[in-house]
Amino acid sequence: MRTAAIVADDRGLLCTESADRRWPPGGTIPPGTPLDAHGYPANRAVRPQLLQALGEEANDFVFGHLNESDTVGHDNGPESEAARACYRATDQLVGELLDALADRWAETVVAVVSDHDMQSRNTSDPIDPLANNTQGWWDAFIPDGGAALVHLVPGVDPREAGLALERIDGVETCVLSNDSLAIVGAQPGRIFAAPMYPAGGFHGAPLTARTVALVGGGHPAVARIAHAMTVRRPHLTDWAPTIAALLGIDLGPVDGLSLLR
Ligand SMILES: [Zn+2]
Repeated sequence: MRTAAIVADDRGLLCTESADRRWPPGGTIPPGTPLDAHGYPANRAVRPQLLQALGEEANDFVFGHLNESDTVGHDNGPESEAARACYRATDQLVGELLDALADRWAETVVAVVSDHDMQSRNTSDPIDPLANNTQGWWDAFIPDGGAALVHLVPGVDPREAGLALERIDGVETCVLSNDSLAIVGAQPGRIFAAPMYPAGGFHGAPLTARTVALVGGGHPAVARIAHAMTVRRPHLTDWAPTIAALLGIDLGPVDGLSLLR
């Protein structure tokens, strides 16, 4: 099977090196590539590469990634005029990519997803778990916007510590990862204390785990996937097993559930 990975943000966890066609080539952004404000290739740089990959009939699977709306949302806020203009331009580009598939529509499945949602900060103070630690049950935390990974001191009852974390002002959820780690989620608009804050939008909170899920195409499987999505809201981990099922690949045990089951 021939595959292509055309991505603005080429991270190791995506394993894009296994694709037959990979851009940026070798994972290195070619000199002179137009970049967005966070240093990722701009949509206009990804566009011709993606159009070329979609135009190659030999490609059975094409993975594309457009990053600009993420950068503009983080910098200006997800509902800012700058972000909305970027969403419109991205939407137009997606339309162009779909047009490129028109002559093979009957055998095509298109899935458009995001990796996270985004929210704006309210005016309340950041949440600092170490400043709300009267019992000394935790000793460190790693913040990511509206979520934080909190390290519990050895010997502490994780359930009691979890309940105490939930009582901190601004905390909405606490999920125990194991006996020494808790994942704490903030209420909408709240952020965990960090050395640096995004100027506009941020993620991490339970609210921002919501993602885009659009499926279309002329392939008969599209109706089945669409039906499954009306019954159960897809989780990000469901896409890999769903795509694997479409391509006839056995992934073995994975976290998600195929929407084609
Ligand atoms: Zn982001």
